[in-house]
Amino acid sequence: MITIGIDVGGTNVVSGLFNDEGRLIRSRKVPTETSQGSAGLLGQLAELCKTLLTEEGLPEGALSAVGIGLPGFIDFKTGEVDAANLPLVRTPVAQKLSELIGVPVTVRNDVKMIVYGESLRGVGKGFDHVLGLTLGTGLASAWVSERKLHDGAAGLAGEIGHIAFSDIPYVCGCGMKGCLETVVSATGIARQARDGLAAGWVGLLAERFPPERRESLTARDVWQAAVDGDGFAIETFRRTAGWLARALAPAIALLSPDIIIVGGGVASSGELFLQPLHAVLSSSLHPLYAERLRIVTPALGDEAGLYGSSEFAREHLSLAKEASA
Ligand SMILES: [Zn+2]
Repeated sequence: MITIGIDVGGTNVVSGLFNDEGRLIRSRKVPTETSQGSAGLLGQLAELCKTLLTEEGLPEGALSAVGIGLPGFIDFKTGEVDAANLPLVRTPVAQKLSELIGVPVTVRNDVKMIVYGESLRGVGKGFDHVLGLTLGTGLASAWVSERKLHDGAAGLAGEIGHIAFSDIPYVCGCGMKGCLETVVSATGIARQARDGLAAGWVGLLAERFPPERRESLTARDVWQAAVDGDGFAIETFRRTAGWLARALAPAIALLSPDIIIVGGGVASSGELFLQPLHAVLSSSLHPLYAERLRIVTPALGDEAGLYGSSEFAREHLSLAKEASA
């Protein structure tokens, strides 16, 4: 079964062709077409599929299915997609692309597809129950159990970034106050650092970022300062891990995952973040969970979303065939 996985981002579209064994054999990365509305973007996706097949010397008829991951909200009743950073407003992406290329198309949120890819083909390979998170500009999660992605009612499962806590002072992009992702994300770490420095914290980070440069401070700068031994920067990661643990502990007790994959920009901070996360979780969970707690970073890098959406499209096609048999 030849499939294509596509990861549509606000800046780039990455697409990959997968062979019969589900191995990535060819990929392409192009700037996202956003100037011609939804028709322009869908046309670009259709062209990408054709180009991948042509380059590999395959006829169009060789393709079995296409899977897409994108940063947007999918209405599970109608299949319509809304995406703030893409020209998609109530656009039935799967149906439209399927009409253009003549094969079944699946569409899911990009975080779900990244976690699905990691759980089946990356660091989660060999584990049945995988909980995955990404901490980038926001915070989201996905749950894959025995190869099945859990969408939940209305497809809303996994939005842990919007659990609100009364001691988090920031207003979220969603309009609520105190959402977890206002602090537990790359943006959140930079924000905490800026506010801490404004409140008078001293040290390496304060020296590197005097008030006039403070707006340009990123999570990576906080990480670098922590690596160099800055106490405030280390504490910022420790506090962020503590906040995340509040949402993760109940999730672990409910789901009992084999492993927890923590990905996204913040995960590249490595032990600075993961060690305190492991420590807080261990101390707040029953020993039966704590002793088998395994927190890992992703293995597939930028290709996780491609693997995920391709595998997801395959899984759907197999299920559809079983149902019709
Ligand atoms: Zn929110």
